[in-house]
Amino acid sequence: MSQYAARLRPRTNGPFARRRRPRRVAMLSVHTSPLHQPGTGDAGGMNVYIVELAQRLAALGIEVEVFTRATTGHLPPSVELSPGVLVRHVDAGPYEGLAKEELPAQLCAFTHGVMQAWANHRPGHYDLVHSHYWLSGHVGWLAADRWGVPLVHAMHTMAKVKNAALAEGDTPEPSARVIGETQIVRAADRLIANTEGEAGELIHHYDAAPGKVAVVHPGVNLERFRPADGRAAARARLDLPADALIPLFAGRIQPLKAPDVLLRAVAVLLERRPELRRRLVVPVVGGPSGSGLARPEGLHKLAARLGITDVVRFRPPVDQARLADWYRAASVLVMPSHSESFGLVAVEAQACGTPVLAAAVGGLPVAVRDGVSGFLVDGHDPADYARVLERFADAPGLAGTMGAAASAHARSFGWDAAARATAEVYTEAIGERRRRLRSAHV
Ligand code: UDP
Repeated sequence: MSQYAARLRPRTNGPFARRRRPRRVAMLSVHTSPLHQPGTGDAGGMNVYIVELAQRLAALGIEVEVFTRATTGHLPPSVELSPGVLVRHVDAGPYEGLAKEELPAQLCAFTHGVMQAWANHRPGHYDLVHSHYWLSGHVGWLAADRWGVPLVHAMHTMAKVKNAALAEGDTPEPSARVIGETQIVRAADRLIANTEGEAGELIHHYDAAPGKVAVVHPGVNLERFRPADGRAAARARLDLPADALIPLFAGRIQPLKAPDVLLRAVAVLLERRPELRRRLVVPVVGGPSGSGLARPEGLHKLAARLGITDVVRFRPPVDQARLADWYRAASVLVMPSHSESFGLVAVEAQACGTPVLAAAVGGLPVAVRDGVSGFLVDGHDPADYARVLERFADAPGLAGTMGAAASAHARSFGWDAAARATAEVYTEAIGERRRRLRSAHV
């Protein structure tokens, strides 16, 4: 046992007997910074998750320090994101030109940076480590062990789950990642899963002890994502036709998210109903990411091959205030993903009063109430998606009625609730560690 674990040695009564929340958490996000714009490259839902969770934890009195790899020169060593939330930039490898796949070779350097930051404080500065994604899990494993504090880990995505549902021709995740994830599952005190389904995947694919796995639904920022002044006003602001059928794709452009299925569905729809062409607008908001980076122009070429360039509008990633307007303007958000650990955009769109058409995979059946707040489709046959789009085309009121149900459904996903549930997981992890130490010392 380390000297720092000894510090926690429990007494039979006094403060150690009480349940205790952490005062300060070291949150690890090696490969992507909470300060990055989500919707392209390595920045997506996990970045949003960390920002929202950290801010809400701070509001509960739990300070958060987020460690992330410095990806440009001239970054200050630390930045206050908001009161109680500090982002620390760690030097590990060259700033630019390092792909996520190359980061395992930099984990030692990153861990060194984390340990140095810790060494500048008194022992006991961090009460708990919360790591995000497997790369951070490896750093967290060592840091938590050294500091004698619990490790709470969130996978966000899992190699075995992704590989089981790859898009045609997509690159599988390497076995080194599977091995790394398996080690983290074993080392972590608690694993946070987005849904019951993901908890089952951790248990089934990675042999996680069921008692270690806690389910915490992610949230949605209900102040930012709300119907506001409605669809017509948003369309006017974005210069979109008032009477258009607008199926929207928003997020990182990569085969896993299957934006190609939306384009193919649009082509099927237009073949069947050519008269819809004059009132169809298909925005694709986001930038290339992951294996999509190998062919950044692939989706543009597909639109050209399908003969639908005139209706598709590619837009670079936008900040969430602007994205909320795209959601409001849309008739339906389309999310035909092959794999999705939760799918924040599905909940965000609903919170803005827009129904969702999604593949019934991963967390999407939790995020979307089939037939109420949107439609879930089994599989990725463009014809099935085209049929649902046709329903929205033929019933212009559907976006409004389902949209109202969607915004009511989305209200059950607040980040405050997610932060409270996460704080409870922290408390349990600390309590359990103390009980273990106590029994080791009687
Ligand atoms: N996003 C954004 N701007 C964009 C596109 C997406 O800010 O132009 C954000 C969006 O609000 C959401 C996140 O990126 O919170 C994507 O999260 P999701 O869980 O849907 O997908 P992930 O990126 O985690 O695969």
